[in-house]
Amino acid sequence: MTIKAYGAHAADRALEPIDITRRTPGAHDVQIAIAYCGVCHSDIHQVRSEWGGTLYPCVPGHEIVGRVSALGAHVSGVQVGDLVGVGCIVDSCKHCEDCDEGLENYCDHMVGTYNAPTPDAPGYTLGGYSQQIVVHERYVLRIRHPEAQLAAVAPLLCAGITTYSPLRHWKVGPGQKVGVVGIGGLGHMGIKLAHAMGAHVVAFTTSESKREAAKLLGADEVVVSRHAEEMAAHAKSFDFILNTVAAPHDLDAFLTLLKRDGTMTLVGAPATPHPSPNVFNLIMKRRSLAGSMIGGIPETQEMLDFCAEHGIVSDIEMIQMDEINTAYERMLKGDVKYRFVIDCASLA
Ligand code: NAP
Ligand code: ZN
Repeated sequence: MTIKAYGAHAADRALEPIDITRRTPGAHDVQIAIAYCGVCHSDIHQVRSEWGGTLYPCVPGHEIVGRVSALGAHVSGVQVGDLVGVGCIVDSCKHCEDCDEGLENYCDHMVGTYNAPTPDAPGYTLGGYSQQIVVHERYVLRIRHPEAQLAAVAPLLCAGITTYSPLRHWKVGPGQKVGVVGIGGLGHMGIKLAHAMGAHVVAFTTSESKREAAKLLGADEVVVSRHAEEMAAHAKSFDFILNTVAAPHDLDAFLTLLKRDGTMTLVGAPATPHPSPNVFNLIMKRRSLAGSMIGGIPETQEMLDFCAEHGIVSDIEMIQMDEINTAYERMLKGDVKYRFVIDCASLA
């Protein structure tokens, strides 16, 4: 099947219309007519080869929602017409320890939704800035939100699970003080989720313009991290900090805000390394610095169900497909509250 998509032909080229092909659904495949696709900062890193190794043409997009449009003969659990989602994973080995535990995100053979090896043409995966996608049933998520919220559900497939998984792993809950650093696509979901889990949430932003807005997301307090005296008021007080910042920055400024035994988990994946933190800021209070990558498929379903139950969706700005290059420039300036979502009907 040949379909319309948007992709880049080189790291320094803008995204433009491109025709791509999708495989005919196999016995365990689900074909999805994509309604909306969220725009993750990882899409920018990848399409511009900031992490290296990008294959061109590159079609990004891993926050995919839509309706099942065709099914393989042996698919169970979804039917044509169902609302479904696909996140950052479209395949994995299915038999290693990680896959057995539902942690496909840590499988050594995880296949990302774009730029990962596949037998399908052109030899690597092409993402959700497109009209249709074909995915093995294991990696297809059920959406239980009302259909009217579908576009705002899309960012949960990456921004939602990438923040939900570490909040759960480090057992965030009532009685805890939790920081979320960087109020972009990931960070705004981190605030909503940590708030729904019952924590006292402090948002850290570099943008004065987000000071009041972050409170509407569920932050109990907001700190503009450029102001040293505001930072100092929170020294040694946090149980957990989730750091979503997409650029290298001073980690010590946040490590010193952790109390004894506190953890800061990095999910932001900047193109160049952070300056090394001062080891004494870890040693002195037995603090931990950790990382986390998206989440497994069962936990992604758990997150979607948690969000449906708590009425949680992303705050989005809808764009047409041909507005994507402007959207990237605005994201790099921090100028989006808080996630762009592409109306994929605009590809027609
Ligand atoms: P985003 O929407 O662009 O938000 C990033 C936020 O970081 C910005 O809104 C800004 O928040 C802050 N920021 C950006 N540049 C900064 C700078 N130079 N100094 C200080 N703060 C800065 O990006 P996103 O989609 O949330 O993604 C964030 C990062 O997570 C990206 O690197 C992405 O690749 C990565 N990611 C990782 C995973 C994973 O599995 N670990 C999954 C998805 C994405 P303020 O305006 O509030 O300061
Ligand atoms: Zn992402």
